[in-house]
Amino acid sequence: MLTADDVVKSYAAKDAAAPVLRGVSLAIEPGQFVCVVGRSGSGKSTLLNILSSLLSPDAGSVRYQGRDLAAMSEAERNRLRATDFSMVFQMHHLLPYLTARENVLTPFLSGLRPVSAARRKRAMECLDRMGLADMAQRLPGALSGGERQRVAIARALVTEPRIVFADEPTGSLDGDTGRQIMDILTGLNAEGLTVVMVTHEPAYAAMASRVITMRDGHILAAA
Ligand code: ADP
Ligand code: MG
Repeated sequence: MLTADDVVKSYAAKDAAAPVLRGVSLAIEPGQFVCVVGRSGSGKSTLLNILSSLLSPDAGSVRYQGRDLAAMSEAERNRLRATDFSMVFQMHHLLPYLTARENVLTPFLSGLRPVSAARRKRAMECLDRMGLADMAQRLPGALSGGERQRVAIARALVTEPRIVFADEPTGSLDGDTGRQIMDILTGLNAEGLTVVMVTHEPAYAAMASRVITMRDGHILAAA
C-alpha cells in the first residue's frame, strides 16, 4: 500500500554528511497498525512526514499504491492528502475561533464554495463517533485536552481517509486520556483504517500490529 525504498533525508540546517534518515525501507500493508518508536531525535517524525507526503526525501522513493509520490504534481499530492491521507499531531492544531464542528469541516473549505449538506452531516457523524455530538458548538477553549484531540481525530476522519498518520497523538495528554485516544485509534483500525503512529509509550506500542524501532536514522531489524 505504502512503501519506502532506501529513503535518505538531511536538513539544510544540519550536517548533510550525517543524514537524519540513512536509507530507510519499509512496506506498510492495508489494515496494519504500525507504531514507530525510538529515542528522541532518531528520525521518527521525519520518517512520518516523508511517508505522509509532507516532506520529500533527498534520495530513495516513497510509493503509494505503486505511485511514486515524487513523480506526482503538487496538486496530485494535495488531492492525496484531501482524500486518502490524514494527519493527527501531538498538538491538536484546532483553530481557536471556530467551533468543534467548524474545525471538523476545515478539510472541506476551499474558496467561497459552501460546504455541502452531506459533508456537514458527515462532520456531525464524526463528532458523534468521538462522543462529542453535544459539544459540536463549543470553541476549542471550552474543551479539555482529550476532547480537543478527539475533535482533531474527527477532523482527520471526515474525509474518509485510508491511512491516518499520527505523531505522538497522546504526547500532551495524561495517561487515562491517552488510553482513550488509543482505544479510538485501535477501534478505527479494527474497522479497516490503516494507522501509522509515532509513540514514546511502550504500552501503546504493544497495542500495534507491528512495531518499527528507529535508531540514528535507521530501522532496527525486527527482533
Ligand atoms: P524524532 O521524531 O525521532 O524525535 P525527528 O525526525 O524530529 O526525530 O528529528 C531527527 C533529527 O533531525 C533531530 O536531530 C532533529 O533535531 C533534526 N531535525 C528535525 N527537523 C529539522 C529541521 N526542520 N531542520 C533541521 N533539523 C531538523
Ligand atoms: Mg518527533
